[in-house]
Amino acid sequence: MPPHINWDLCTGCGNCYEICPGDVIRLNNGKAFVRYPDECWHCGACRLECLEEAISFHFPIKMVRV
Ligand code: SF4
Ligand code: SF4
Repeated sequence: MPPHINWDLCTGCGNCYEICPGDVIRLNNGKAFVRYPDECWHCGACRLECLEEAISFHFPIKMVRV
C-alpha cells in the first residue's frame, strides 16, 4: 500500500518528495500527494523524513505477518 498523507498535518516541506527513491510523491499547492502509488517500494523513508508525522501506512490485515 502506498503512503497516506494527512493534509491537515502536511506543511509542504518537501522532505518526503526529496527522499523518495521511487519518485512517488509530488508537491502541489503546498501539500504532498501520492502521484504514482504503483511505484511505491514501501521502504518507509518518506514516513521517517516527515517531521510532522503526516505520513502513515495502512496495510490490509492479510499483509501483516504476526
Ligand atoms: S515530509 Fe511530511 S510535512 Fe513535509 S511535505 Fe512530506 S508529508 Fe508534508
Ligand atoms: S515508502 Fe519509499 S517508495 Fe514509497 S512513497 Fe515512501 S519513500 Fe517513496
